[in-house]
Amino acid sequence: MNDRIEEPARSIRVVHECDLCVIGGSCTGVFAAVRAARLGAKVVLIERGGAFGGVATLSLVNVWHSPLDTTYNRQIIGGLTLELIDRLRARKAVKERPRSPHYAWAFNPYEMMIELDRLVLENGITPMLHTAFVEPHVVGGKLDAVIVENKSGRTAIRAKFFVDASGDGDLAHRSGSECYKPEHGQPSTTCAVLDGWSTMAGVDLGRLLRTHGPEHTLPLGFAWGADVAGTNQYMLAATRVSGLDPSIDDELTRSEIEGRRQVAAILDIIRQNAPQAKVGLAGLPARIGLRESRHVRTEHQLTGNEVLFGQRFGDAIANGSYRVDVHHQDKPGITLQYLDGTQSYLVPGEPQVEGRWREPMATDPTFYQVPYRSIVPGHLPNLLVAGRMLDADPIAHAAVRVMVNMNQTGEAAGVASVLAMRTTGDVRTINTDQLRHDLATGGSIVI
Ligand SMILES: Cc1cc2nc3c(=O)[nH]c(=O)nc-3n(C[C@H](O)[C@H](O)[C@H](O)COP(=O)(O)OP(=O)(O)OC[C@H]3O[C@@H](n4cnc5c(N)ncnc54)[C@H](O)[C@@H]3O)c2cc1C
Repeated sequence: MNDRIEEPARSIRVVHECDLCVIGGSCTGVFAAVRAARLGAKVVLIERGGAFGGVATLSLVNVWHSPLDTTYNRQIIGGLTLELIDRLRARKAVKERPRSPHYAWAFNPYEMMIELDRLVLENGITPMLHTAFVEPHVVGGKLDAVIVENKSGRTAIRAKFFVDASGDGDLAHRSGSECYKPEHGQPSTTCAVLDGWSTMAGVDLGRLLRTHGPEHTLPLGFAWGADVAGTNQYMLAATRVSGLDPSIDDELTRSEIEGRRQVAAILDIIRQNAPQAKVGLAGLPARIGLRESRHVRTEHQLTGNEVLFGQRFGDAIANGSYRVDVHHQDKPGITLQYLDGTQSYLVPGEPQVEGRWREPMATDPTFYQVPYRSIVPGHLPNLLVAGRMLDADPIAHAAVRVMVNMNQTGEAAGVASVLAMRTTGDVRTINTDQLRHDLATGGSIVI
């Protein structure tokens, strides 16, 4: 049997010409688009799903971490993260815990979808939903256009600059960036929105999962959740899909089905062993939540030591204080490492194991930074990456991957693209002092 066909060459209609084209519409991508548009750029934003927000909305992960340093005395994150929270606050769509190490905000993901629609339209951005990037068009060593596919078939968007905010780095990968995958990438999780969570009072879910999980071939991962603000519902994240690469078609399909199977198993365990709890399944994500897949090699790989020792960078574009948070592929539970040198190992239904990953120091760092170079792939003059595919080793990635940090990489990529357009024409050679100045002018906290 001949298992290959030749696709006939075809000419493709260019449906938009713009200054900046952003691939991927999580908050990372939306924020890149908004910051560029506010600087006067004509922007097209392409999203494969039917709404903006990425993991925060389509995968129901409704939690953002603190915009303060680890002492809670210094603000280190501003910009569109705070602007979006202000908008959600006005709609009573966010619960706030400003001094918690676990999360600062638990929001309503559906209200966030609507606010992101508004943000995009108010800023004059051209949105393309249900549209997937499929191929780059490179001419003379520059990205000339991206080919996308949607209900109308294949079309092209031509732009001067491109930001890959696809999470998996699809654009960078297909346009020749060097990419890598960690040996034990962080597992994926299918979240579930539940009714009746208050009836779980007194039920030790961790112990139930520890005891009864094996009967349901449920891997012992980690279980946490948050209220869905403005409702009586609860988002539970307690599944763990390991050993499947979500950037491979078949493995992504199997991940989705396995994640939902695990949700059903958790509900069965609750119903069979805690009959007093009346928990109903009210919602499943449009897409399994992905923590990690491909990374793009850039001009600087952020390391675990740089994060944990709070390395400062002259070209810093993002600040963060969220701990290193490793969801293990190869063993149960999670490991948390803090900037003060302490660490914890947590497994559902088992005592927490406390320790140190380093000896005490005279002063501990209170935040870490991401340099601009970590979002510059460097092989094309007009491509930046933003989001979880950035260049970071496993420990660094385990901290910087959270959304309040990724949001800032998006904002920086949008502002840097406009700066390049107006000065050198090349994202690799922009003046990073000017970039930091422009970021601060637009509301970012630049340190
Ligand atoms: C279960 C779970 C719990 C987590 N918990 C937290 C937490 O509590 N707090 C926190 O801040 N972070 C948390 N994270 C991490 C965080 O959600 C991710 O690291 C972050 O969302 C990554 O953002 P991103 O913009 O890079 O990618 P994503 O949010 O994955 O967005 C990528 C976007 O690109 C689109 N896209 C992809 N490919 C294409 C294509 N070819 N064409 C067009 N569009 C495309 C996708 O549809 C998506 O909208 C969690 C993650 C998971 C999975």
